This record gives sequence, C-alpha cells and structure tokens, in this order.
Amino acid sequence: MESIPRPGFGVWLIAPDATESAVAGALATGYRHVDTAAAYGNEPAVGRAVRAFGGDVHVTTKYFNPGDDHGYDDARAAFEESFDRLGLDRIDLYLVHWPVRAGGGFVESWRALADLRDDPRLGSIGVSNFSRAHLNAVVDATGVTPAVNQIELHPYFQQAELRREHAERGVATVAWGPLGQGDQHDERVLDDPVLAEIAAAHGRSVAQVVLRWHLQLGTIPIPKAADPDHMRANLDVFDFELTGADMDAIAALDRGTRYGPDPDTHDFPGSYGGRPVGRA
Ligand code: NAD
Repeated sequence: MESIPRPGFGVWLIAPDATESAVAGALATGYRHVDTAAAYGNEPAVGRAVRAFGGDVHVTTKYFNPGDDHGYDDARAAFEESFDRLGLDRIDLYLVHWPVRAGGGFVESWRALADLRDDPRLGSIGVSNFSRAHLNAVVDATGVTPAVNQIELHPYFQQAELRREHAERGVATVAWGPLGQGDQHDERVLDDPVLAEIAAAHGRSVAQVVLRWHLQLGTIPIPKAADPDHMRANLDVFDFELTGADMDAIAALDRGTRYGPDPDTHDFPGSYGGRPVGRA
C-alpha cells in the first residue's frame, strides 16, 4: 500500500451541500487525504472538490453494509456506485464500514473487496470497526489481510491491544474520532486538564497535542473540522514533539470509553447519523 498522508480530513456529518467547500478549503490548507463513506451521503461533493483541486489526493470511501441484502454481490455493486458518485480515476482505499451483521455476512463483503484488488480503479482495501475476532474471520476465510483497520481511537479510548494486533499483522491503524468527537459528548477529551497542561507547556492547543500524540503513536488520524482555524491548526503539528513523560501521561488517560457503537453488538437498526440504513 502507498503511504497515506497524515492527518487526513474526515467529512462525517458535514452536510452534502457544505461538503464541497469544506473539502476545497481543506485541500487549499494542505490536506492530501479525505475520508468519506457511502453512508455519509457526500461522495459526489468530495469528488467535485478533489476534481477541481486537480492535485494528488488520497480518497477513502466505505461500503456501508448493515442492510439485509449486504454481502458479495451487494459489495461489488456498491463499489461501482461509489466509484460513479465520486467521479475520480480511482478510489485509493475502499473499506468494509462495519463488521455487521451478526452471522458473519461481512466475510462475504470482504471476499468481494479481495476480488476487486486487481481492478486498476482501486488502490487498496481495508476494513473499519473490526475487532481481533473480525480480523481473524476475514483473513482465515480469504487469506487476504486488510491494509488498514479504521477504528475509534482517542486518549479516552486508546485500543492498545488492537493496535498491537495491527502491528503484528502489518495492518495500518486509521483513527476515527481522533479528537474524541469535539463537543459531542459530556466527558470531552478536548477539556481534559492533563492535556491542557501538556498543551500549555508546548504553547499549543489541546487538539494539536492530541493529533501530535496520534502521529507519535503511529496512527493515521482523520479529524473533521469545518472551522478554517481548526482545519489549519490540525495540520500544524509537525514542528513540536511530545516528550516520553507527555506520552506516558496521555497513556494514563485511557478510560476504555467508547463514544461510538460497539461493533460486537450494534447493527444499525434504522439509521446511521440520521440517514436510513441500506445502500446509500
Ligand atoms: P473528531 O474527533 O474528528 O471530532 C470532530 C469535532 O471536533 C468537530 O465537532 C470539530 O468542530 C471539533 N474540532 C476539530 N478540530 C478542532 C480543534 N482544532 N479545536 C477544537 N475543536 C475541534 O470526530 P469525528 O468527526 O467523529 O471523526 C473524524 C472522522 O472520522 C469523521 O469525519 C469520519 O470521516 C470518520 N469516522 C469514521 C467512522 C467509522 O465508523 N469508520 C465513525 C466516525 C467517524
């Protein structure tokens, strides 16, 4: 797999009619990696912004597979639809979005992606929200290891065991919700006093410290920011370094708190981020 630019720019819950200008702003700011998904409903807008930019941009999208009809044929058809909606020469990375439903249908979705590997319209294939058991299931069934697993990962949910598993298997870790999803939750990573102290010591914001922590951990964070100041700040994380003591202090913040759904138990009955489930 070609290396994936870090940080990437996530576009979940950016409304379709606001996405084109947000992505255009991100690309003008210097991002070279955009993370979208069929389920976000904004692939056409991402494609328009990337086409207008014209430069080399890594684009990830995802097969949304909670519907009853997901599986091999559905995944193949969904790839064609995402490809058409994006309107780009290729999709750099295509992921199985969630390991649902119970019963293992995601293995057939993975088999479909594995069979797409030689398609010149596709760079690499991977998964998202997979546990160790889910990874075992797809690798055992197909012999094909996902290039990446995109998982929830932030200082309050650090996923050390799964990161170790990834390192052993050569799977890159992409971190979603890398900032703890901003102000969407009561216990906010961005309000953490230990992180505030580290940020003050480096003359940086807490968000910058958290993104720097991701880089030093070896993950690929994909923060979302509609605010241009946040967009810029989130890229400006290459000219300072957290100390060993900073890294240890952040490691101690792990609470095992998942903000998103648990992939072992959740199968998206009804909707995803307000959008109906089933193919976008
Ligand atoms: P995030 O951790 O990126 O947090 C985004 C929030 O943080 C926004 O509300 C934003 O206003 C705020 N923020 C951003 N930069 C800031 C800064 N510098 N200072 C203060 N606040 C700041 O959470 P997310 O959007 O859920 O995750 C990022 C991306 O990950 C998504 O956009 C999407 O592309 C992807 N994602 C994937 C999955 C999956 O199942 N694979 C699930 C959720 C998200």
